[in-house]
Amino acid sequence: MAINKTEAIVLRHRELRETSLIATFYTRDFGKINGVIKGVRGERSQHVGGALELFARDEIVFYEKKGSDLFLVSQCELINFFPSIRSDLEKLSYASYLVELTDSATPLGEKSEEIFTLLSKSLGLLCAKASARRAARIFEIKFLKILGMMPAMERCAVCSGSVDDGGRFNLKAGGLVCGSCGASSGPSFPILRGTREFIKHIASSDFERASRIKVAERVGKELEAILRKFIDYHIGRRLNTVAFLASIK
Ligand SMILES: [Zn+2]
Repeated sequence: MAINKTEAIVLRHRELRETSLIATFYTRDFGKINGVIKGVRGERSQHVGGALELFARDEIVFYEKKGSDLFLVSQCELINFFPSIRSDLEKLSYASYLVELTDSATPLGEKSEEIFTLLSKSLGLLCAKASARRAARIFEIKFLKILGMMPAMERCAVCSGSVDDGGRFNLKAGGLVCGSCGASSGPSFPILRGTREFIKHIASSDFERASRIKVAERVGKELEAILRKFIDYHIGRRLNTVAFLASIK
């Protein structure tokens, strides 16, 4: 029976019988896993100090449960509770959105250290002084890139032709389309040059540099709207936290 130890971020949890929980973790070394943690609820529960709260970063020890795709988590030690996110409703909502998006777009058991690192750094950025919106946009663009779902921004998504005339953004085609493809590939809308440049810039810069790139307000607004439509269209499931984020605006 292999015993594994890794860092993990809590994406979701639910109660299991009287005293246990099932948590979904995104781990550094094993991708997304579901694990049972016994004896953490009820009168004689063992103390885990916030380690099972949403988006807590932990070190966990787990092993296989015979005949089940659930793992048994035998140790769960808190590394970062991100307290300054939890005391700010806007940051808390955005952090909840990041973990829900990660959960909805990743399969169980497919390792991606890049996703783990991106999620960790994005939570760290939310904790720091940066605006929650900026942290969310950087996460979204870099997450799409890791998943291989980056919108086409350099050339037409349909014919690979030039989009030097500005092009239009087309959800179905998956990015910019040129003038001649625009008419034949479903609804599309205009996109500011600044928005287009910003997406390219974030995708190609490392995280630390990306977190410092300034953006004009109208670009920020357009970017938020376009990424929302793109993610909803391609991930195909309405996220609970998105409606909540809209309601706290
Ligand atoms: Zn084209």
